[in-house]
Amino acid sequence: MVCMLLKIDQSAKSVNQVRCSRCATTLIIRHGTYFRADPVRPTLVKIQRYLCKSPECPRRTFSVLPFPLLPIVRHTFGTHIIGYVLGNALRRPQSIVSGLLEITRGRTKRLSEFCREFIPWFYHEAKIADWGTNLLQDPARFWADFTRDFSQRFYPARWDIGDQHNSIL
Ligand SMILES: [Zn+2]
Repeated sequence: MVCMLLKIDQSAKSVNQVRCSRCATTLIIRHGTYFRADPVRPTLVKIQRYLCKSPECPRRTFSVLPFPLLPIVRHTFGTHIIGYVLGNALRRPQSIVSGLLEITRGRTKRLSEFCREFIPWFYHEAKIADWGTNLLQDPARFWADFTRDFSQRFYPARWDIGDQHNSIL
């Protein structure tokens, strides 16, 4: 019976425990919140910020974004996929893509340029990363790992200094 309880406790920890996005320690505390614009609805999403307490870790604060929010970029994961398929793969005119996504043509252009790097990286990483085959089946569990890798690849300077909550796309 005790063994069963320990197993249940350990599996719950491995699934739900927040870890530092830099050093992966669980030695963290909550450290305030901030708001991000919801990329789909005209509302704000409250984001929890954490403080890493490990003395060896260069990161001070970090946050864990909920699916489908991405670090730094304003568009969702789904918008990137749709934008890529329409604009890059099917080569639909920018005016059509911006109309369907309900974003300006300038943003559509920047999204298309970003997707030229993002989509090939995503499909490559999906074959080798732990989150790869599981991300879309269980985003609540794997989203933090994916967004960590995303930040490290596309915004390494920002990833080095910690919390990233300003959108630029
Ligand atoms: Zn840390």
